[in-house]
Amino acid sequence: MSEQDYQVLLVTDNDQDARFLEYALRKDSRATFVPLRAQDMDEAMKLLATRPIDAVVLDSALPDTNCVETCLKIHSSDATMPIIATQETAEEDQAKDILTAGAQDVLLKQDCAGGNLSRAIRYAVKRAQAVRDLSASESLLQSVLQNVNEGVIVAGRNEKLLLVNPAARELLGIGSAAGLPTDIFGMYEPDTVTRIRDRERPMARAIRGEVLNDLEIFHRNPNAPNGRFLSVSGRPLKDAAGNITGGIVSFRDVTGRKRVEDELAHLSLHDGLTGIPNRAFFLETLRKSVARARRAESRVAVLLLVLDRFKQINDRLGHEFGDALLVDVARRLTDGLRAGDFVARLGGDEFVILFENFGHDEHAAGLADKITDVLAPVFRLEGQEVSVSASIGISTFPECGDDSGSLMKTADVAMYRAKESGRNTYHFYSRSVHAEMSRRSQLEADLREAMRHDHFDLEYQPIADLRNGRITAVEALLRWNHPDHGQVRPLEFIPILEATGLMNRVGEWVLASACAQVKEWQRTLNRPDLGIAVNLSYQQLLHRRIVDQVHRILTNAGLEASMLTLEINEATVLENPRMVREQLHLLSGEGVKISLDDFGTGYSSLQAIRQLPLSSIKVDRSLVMSLPTDPEDVAVVDAVLRFAEDLGLDVIAEGVEAQAQLDFLAERGCSLGQGYLISPPLPVAAVDGFVSTNWRAA
Ligand code: C2E
Ligand code: MG
Ligand code: MG
Repeated sequence: MSEQDYQVLLVTDNDQDARFLEYALRKDSRATFVPLRAQDMDEAMKLLATRPIDAVVLDSALPDTNCVETCLKIHSSDATMPIIATQETAEEDQAKDILTAGAQDVLLKQDCAGGNLSRAIRYAVKRAQAVRDLSASESLLQSVLQNVNEGVIVAGRNEKLLLVNPAARELLGIGSAAGLPTDIFGMYEPDTVTRIRDRERPMARAIRGEVLNDLEIFHRNPNAPNGRFLSVSGRPLKDAAGNITGGIVSFRDVTGRKRVEDELAHLSLHDGLTGIPNRAFFLETLRKSVARARRAESRVAVLLLVLDRFKQINDRLGHEFGDALLVDVARRLTDGLRAGDFVARLGGDEFVILFENFGHDEHAAGLADKITDVLAPVFRLEGQEVSVSASIGISTFPECGDDSGSLMKTADVAMYRAKESGRNTYHFYSRSVHAEMSRRSQLEADLREAMRHDHFDLEYQPIADLRNGRITAVEALLRWNHPDHGQVRPLEFIPILEATGLMNRVGEWVLASACAQVKEWQRTLNRPDLGIAVNLSYQQLLHRRIVDQVHRILTNAGLEASMLTLEINEATVLENPRMVREQLHLLSGEGVKISLDDFGTGYSSLQAIRQLPLSSIKVDRSLVMSLPTDPEDVAVVDAVLRFAEDLGLDVIAEGVEAQAQLDFLAERGCSLGQGYLISPPLPVAAVDGFVSTNWRAA
C-alpha cells in the first residue's frame, strides 16, 4: 500500500532515458509516482504552471538550455520546488553548480534504479514541504506581529532586544527609524509617578522566569504626553531543553477602560447630588485614619451634622429647592473648612466631617463652632432666602469607640442629643447620653410592640365653663401603659412616634376612638352639645390626607364636625407658618374647630395668629401657674384675653390648680378652664359621672 501519490515531472529529450526513469519510479513500495514528461525547458515550465507537480527530475543535458539555468528558472517561479538532476557520467564541478543552483540532489542515471531515485524524490519533497511550512509559519508570525494591536517585545537573556513590533513602537512612542532607547520601559507605577525599579521591570521579571499577567503600568511618552495605562503580560522565552533564553513581553493600551473604571470608582465614592465624598468613601477614610491614629497614638474626631428642619424646608419649598440647598451646604462646608478636614455627605440632610490630629476637645468644639458660622449667613436660592442651622454630634477616638463603626454610632447618639437640646448646637458623646439613647431606642422598639398589641389608651380631661361649671368638652389625652415602666408620659414617647413616622397611625387611632367615644357620651348622657378636643401633631397636620381622614372619621362616628376641636400647639405653628396655615384652613373648611394649644410658650406674633382660622386659644399652664401674683404674667394673660375678645375667640386656661387662679381668670372674663382643680384626665369609665354631675366652682 502506498502512502502517497507524487506527481513527478521528467524533463528529458531522450525517450529511452524517460522510459528508464519511469521504470525506476515504479519500483517503490512507500509511494506511488505518477510521471509526466516534458521534452525541454519550455514545455517543463508550461506544465509546472498548469499541473500540480510535486518534484522535477531533470536531465542535465537538455537541448535548449543547461541544467543550472533550468534549476534557476524553475525556482524563480516556485522557490521550493524539489529538483533532482541526473547525470550521464559523474562530473563533480557540474554537480556542485547544479546543487548551488538549488537542486536537492544529483544522481548518476545508472544509480537511479533500485529505489534510489524514488527515495531521493521522497526526501526532497519532504524537505521542500518542511521548508514551505516553516516559511509559511514564519510569515504568518511576521504578519501577526506586524498587525496586532498588542505591543510585543522579545529580548535575549541580557535584555538585548530581538524584536519590537510596530504596535510596541507606537505604544511606547519609539519611532520606527530611530534606534531603540536602552530603557524602553521607562514605566511608572499606576497612581504614582514613581519610576518602576529596574529589577521590577516586566522584561527583567520575565527573563528571571516570572509569568506576569495583566500588570497595570502607567507610561508616558511623546505619543502620549499625558501618559497611558498599559496592561502588561510577560513570560520567559525557553529553548527546546527548557532553558531560559530571554523574555517576551506583550502589552496593550487600557487607558479607555481604566478611565471608565476610574469614573465608576469616582461615582461609587462620591455623592451624586453634591459631588462630595459619600458614606462609603467616608467610612473607608475613617477606617484608615483610625488605624493611623492608633499607631501614632493621636486622636480623631467625627463630627456628624444634620441640618435642622430640613424636612420642613423641603416640604415647603419643594425638593428641587431642597436639593439646591444641599449642594450649597456641601460647598460651604468644603470651602469653609481647612483642606485637611474631610467632608462627606451621608445621605439626606446628614453630613460628616473627619477631624484628625487634634489635642483637646476644645479644638473639635472649635471646628463645630466654625461649621455653625459657615452655615449662619442666609442662603439665597432661586429668589428665596432661607436660614439653615445644624445639630452636630461629636465622637472622638479613642474615647468614644475604637473603630469606625462605633465612632459613627456614638456620633449619631451625640447628634440626636444636640438636636433635642434645642438644635443649632453641638454635643459631645458621653456615657450618660448613651444610656439615655439606649432607653430611647428601647422605647422605640416597645412602641412598635405597643402598636401591634393595642397598648395605647385614652384619658379624657374635662373642660369647664367657668361661669356655670358646665362641662362643655373633654380633651382626649394619649396614654401608654408600658409593661415594665408603667405609664410613660406622652411628652416622652410622642416625639419618638414622630421621629419614627409612627405618629400618623397612632394619631388616626386617637381621632377615631375619641370621636366614637364622645358620640356615645352624647347619646348616653343626653348631652348632644358635648365637644371633644383632640391634639394633632405637626406630622399629622402636614400629612397629605389629614383632611380626608378627619372627614372619614367624623362620618364613621356620625359626629357633627363642629363638635370636634383640633388642638395645634404654638410650636407647630412656628415651624412652618405657611403650610400650617393652609392645612388649618382646609380643616376648618370641613367645619371642625381649631384651637391654639400651649399659647405663651412660643413667641408667635399676634399678627400671625390673626391669620389662622382659630376658634379658641389655650393659655399655657406656665402662665396660669403664677397667677395672680406675677404681674408680668398677669399682663400677658390680660392682653391675650383682650386680643381674643377682639377676634371673637374663646380662651381656655390650662393647668388650673388653685382656686386663686380660677378666681382671677373668671374675674377677667376667661370663659373656659381645664386643670387638676376641675378634674385630672379621667379614664373612660369615670367620665360619665363627672360630666353628668356638672362641676361647680366652689
Ligand atoms: P396638652 O395638650 O397641653 O395637654 C395638657 C397636659 O397637661 C396633659 O398632659 C395634662 O395631663 C396636663 N394637665 C392638665 N391639667 C393639669 C394641671 O392642672 N396641672 C398639671 N401639672 N398638668 C395638667 P399629658 O397628658 O402628659 O400630655 C402632654 C402633652 O402631650 C399634651 O399637652 C399634648 O401636647 C400631648 N398629647 C397628649 N395626647 C396626645 C395625642 O393624642 N396626640 C398628640 N399629638 N399629642 C398628644
Ligand atoms: Mg392639648
Ligand atoms: Mg396644652
